[in-house]
Amino acid sequence: MQYFAPVIRSLMLLTVHALAHVSMAQPYVPGQTYFGGGGYIEYRCGDLPLVISVPHGGALVPSDIPDRTCNDPVFAVDANTVELGSAIDSVYATNEGCRPHVVICHLARRKLDANRDLEDGACGDPQAAQAWSDFHAYIESAKEQVIAAAGKGFYLDLHGHGHTVQRLELGYLLYEDELALEDATLNTSTYIDYSSIRALALDNELGISHAALLRGPQALGTRLADRGYPSVPSQQDPIPLPGQPYFTGGYNTLRHSSYQGGSIDGVQMECNFTGVRDNALNRARFADSLRVALNAFLDDHYFGQRPSCAVSVEEVVERPSCSLWPNPSDSFVSVRVQGKGEVLAVEVLDGSGRVVALGDTRSPIDIRSLAPGPYAVHVAGMGGGCSLSSETRLRPNGTESSAKPKESKVGPWDVAKGDECQLSGEVVPLGLLH
Ligand SMILES: [Zn+2]
Repeated sequence: MQYFAPVIRSLMLLTVHALAHVSMAQPYVPGQTYFGGGGYIEYRCGDLPLVISVPHGGALVPSDIPDRTCNDPVFAVDANTVELGSAIDSVYATNEGCRPHVVICHLARRKLDANRDLEDGACGDPQAAQAWSDFHAYIESAKEQVIAAAGKGFYLDLHGHGHTVQRLELGYLLYEDELALEDATLNTSTYIDYSSIRALALDNELGISHAALLRGPQALGTRLADRGYPSVPSQQDPIPLPGQPYFTGGYNTLRHSSYQGGSIDGVQMECNFTGVRDNALNRARFADSLRVALNAFLDDHYFGQRPSCAVSVEEVVERPSCSLWPNPSDSFVSVRVQGKGEVLAVEVLDGSGRVVALGDTRSPIDIRSLAPGPYAVHVAGMGGGCSLSSETRLRPNGTESSAKPKESKVGPWDVAKGDECQLSGEVVPLGLLH
């Protein structure tokens, strides 16, 4: 749709300028959660140079807001993306003690489309219009805080697609036929000016090109694909093939990225369902991989090393921790939950989320029948799982591992740091048991 691209882009620009008066004077505190009018928009204030919005995962259908009827509205909900946004927030808080800014629309899309302009998004309803304003004002406020603290940063608009090809679609406002252009063309000012990573393409730490930022070895898509989440564009999959549906990025990416100017770049991330957002285990695992990929992306291109943030988000301190021992193991593994005297049920899950072994915290769990590989552990009845950062993954027994259990003089629970884990709000990233 190259022909229409300039027209759509200029219309969006006018719309955004007309709305530039929205601002938030209220000071927000990292770690605190705020709600807009009617409780429809949630803002979790963060302290990282990262802003995540979730416009299409809401489930609320208040009867006093009519269903949208204007301009052929789309009602499809991006299933489980609110839960995925929460998992991303949680995995940052658990692993790093600091967190991104997260803005969530809880209204169902039939009541408000928070990735459209005001006219098409709220269809003239005053409550929906208020929620729309709250959604964007929270994002604007988060961006202002990022600029004040770090000078630049990244915005991610989180969605879910229903396309057949199970891969992440990263929309940088470039159409399929533009992504198909050779690097030298993508690196011209014409295409950099179309891009949602415009500011980064003009100035980044490694001095690499626009095309390299989209699909080179240090691209976000490449980092995600490296961790087992196929992505387009990436080095592994640089261009959607003709006929393959692909989302290039919508209103939010146009409005909140450096396409409009400023030093906060952005992307519309469309997540496939299977293995990414279909169940709590996969959401938690993907959230952790996304965290690692985003950290690498920010370190590589923005900061060298990210600015430190205020540690000690309350829930991190309050969560009980659990330990696995030994890890890795090829025979039995024990799970201990700190401060919990009662016996708790334990499930061992494989990479596709299937329960492959059962036990409890009272006695070692037999895993001798399992093939070597990564597994997760879920402690039932705790409202969470025993979580290990994927950065601390261990290798199967018999191979070298920096996080191998060390010989202990004080008892089996004096394990390597890599085995420390915490109960997350939303279940389980990955531990490697075998
Ligand atoms: Zn969506």
